[in-house]
Amino acid sequence: MSRRSFLWCRLPEGARRAALRWFAALGAAAALSCPGVAASAPLPIFDAHIHYSHDAWENLPPPAAIAILREAGVRRALVSSSGDEGTQRLFALAPELIVPSLRPYRSRSEVSTWVRDPTVVAFLEDRLAKSRYAAIGEFHVYGADADLPVVRRLVALGKEHRLVLHAHSDADAVERLFRQDPDARILWAHSGFDRPDAVRELLRRHRNLWCDLAFRSEHGAAGKVPPEWRALFTEFPDRFMVGTDTFTPERWHYIVEHANWSRAWLAELPPALAERIAWSNAEALFGSSSAPARK
Ligand SMILES: [Zn+2]
Repeated sequence: MSRRSFLWCRLPEGARRAALRWFAALGAAAALSCPGVAASAPLPIFDAHIHYSHDAWENLPPPAAIAILREAGVRRALVSSSGDEGTQRLFALAPELIVPSLRPYRSRSEVSTWVRDPTVVAFLEDRLAKSRYAAIGEFHVYGADADLPVVRRLVALGKEHRLVLHAHSDADAVERLFRQDPDARILWAHSGFDRPDAVRELLRRHRNLWCDLAFRSEHGAAGKVPPEWRALFTEFPDRFMVGTDTFTPERWHYIVEHANWSRAWLAELPPALAERIAWSNAEALFGSSSAPARK
C-alpha cells in the first residue's frame, strides 16, 4: 500500500465518506480505495440503459466496451443492440456483467418504422428461440401506436417469456401497454422525459412501473437534487434507476463520466436511497434473470 493510501485508510470513517463525496463530485472517487474497507469503495452502478449497436463495434470492439463498463464501476448493465449480435457478443465475454435485452430493431433506422413492420415479429420470435433475455426493448412507441398489431405481439411475447418491457414512450402508450397486460413489468425509459408530477401520477397508478433516468440531467444538475425530484425519489424509493443511453457510438465514451456524475448527485440523498437508485432497484428487477444461460 502506498503512503498516500495508508494515510487515507487511517482517516475516521466519517471523514472518509465526506471526502469521498467531494472526490465523487470531481470524478476522482475511483482513484482511492482501501483493501478490506468496503465503505470506501465507489458506489456500484447498475447502468440500465446501454446500447451496443452495429455501428459501435468497429471502433469499440467487445473487450474495449467491457473495459469501459468496468472502469466506470458498473456492476451490471442492461444492454440491447440494433441487430441483436452486439448484445450477444458482450454477454459472451462478461455474462456476470451484461443483462441482455432484445431490441425489436435489426438496424437503428427501424426506430420509427418497426410498429408497422410485421417482419419484426418473426425476428423477435427467432431471437427468443435462440437466446435468453431479461427484457425486451428499448423500443419506441407513442400514443395509439401502442395498440398496433406488431406492438401487441411484442407485449404478448414479453408476457410469454416473462420479460420486462423497456419502453421509450409517452404516458398514454404506457397506459395502453398495461391495458394489454396488467401484469406487465414496464421500465419507462427516460421516465418518459416527463415532469416529476406526471411521473408521480403514473407511478401511483402502476405498481409494476419502474423508471430509468437516462439522458436527462435536471434531477442532478450541478450535483444537486431539486426538491421535486427528492420528493419523488423518497415517495418511490424502489422504482428509479440510472442509465447512460449509448444511443450513438460516441456515447460509450461518456459512461465513466456519467457513473461519476450519478455518484455525485446520489451522494445528496440518504445512503440507503442512493444505493437503491444506483444499483439495487435494477438488481431487484432483473436479479432473477441474472446471467441467463444460452438456450
Ligand atoms: Zn436508448
